[in-house]
Amino acid sequence: MIATVEPLAGAKPKSIAELRQTLSASRLNTWLSCRLKFLFRYVLGIAKPRTGALYVGHSVHGVLKLWNRARWRRQTITVEQLQQQFDTLWQADQAKEQVRWDDGEEPGEKQTAWSLVDFYLKNTPIPPNEMAEGVEVSVEADLARHGLPRLIGIIDLVRAGGRIVDFKTLGQTPSEEKAIHTNEIQLTSYAMLYRATTGKVESGRDLHQLVKSKTPKLIVTQQGPMTQQQQARLFRQMESYVAGLDREDFVPSPGMQCSMCSYFNECRRHG
Ligand code: SF4
Repeated sequence: MIATVEPLAGAKPKSIAELRQTLSASRLNTWLSCRLKFLFRYVLGIAKPRTGALYVGHSVHGVLKLWNRARWRRQTITVEQLQQQFDTLWQADQAKEQVRWDDGEEPGEKQTAWSLVDFYLKNTPIPPNEMAEGVEVSVEADLARHGLPRLIGIIDLVRAGGRIVDFKTLGQTPSEEKAIHTNEIQLTSYAMLYRATTGKVESGRDLHQLVKSKTPKLIVTQQGPMTQQQQARLFRQMESYVAGLDREDFVPSPGMQCSMCSYFNECRRHG
């Protein structure tokens, strides 16, 4: 399997026809949370800088990718080497994209990001010598026979034996039920993609969630293989996406999510 590099944040406008051909879990999540936000981000391609909190998640993810990739290549990488890579990536990625730091926030957030990585390496349930089946695997599933767009995605890690892992950085400790519910689209999509690529059924789907509390926490939430019901729900959600795009139905969905929305100003001005 191939290992790829995660693209940095940024956007460029896409036509409706283009958006109808393929669909990723993150794009579907945006569509289902607010169609007007979807219009700003994907149709109009209005790029927004990451917040400091998002940049922490991005950096943690980047270093864990290096750790996973080393195991996948049967190489040894020490914690010291990972910390050096972390320092380099922290600077290098900011040269490529703008980050919206609050005043004086960056040094503390950098320290938080590394302490999360360090905590993960000391507490991960993955044995250091376990081979990875795939790391940052770019995959797709042709769903044309269902009248749906091609599903695309990048899976963080597939452990030996076909166990899918997704890494998250969170501000609060999630409940198990909530974590499974809020990540349903992503983990169902990954199962679809894994099956389409390998012809096998995944052995499970895990969330490795690092919580940015005073003392970092690692919450591992485990699920079995995708169920028929989960697949049916994903297909209905994708059908809703296709039908809505065809109608160019970009209605706003004001609600709790607006407090975190980077398109708030555009939304207030939108006719
Ligand atoms: S502010 Fe709220 S309603 Fe407006 S685009 Fe963002 S999420 Fe949608």
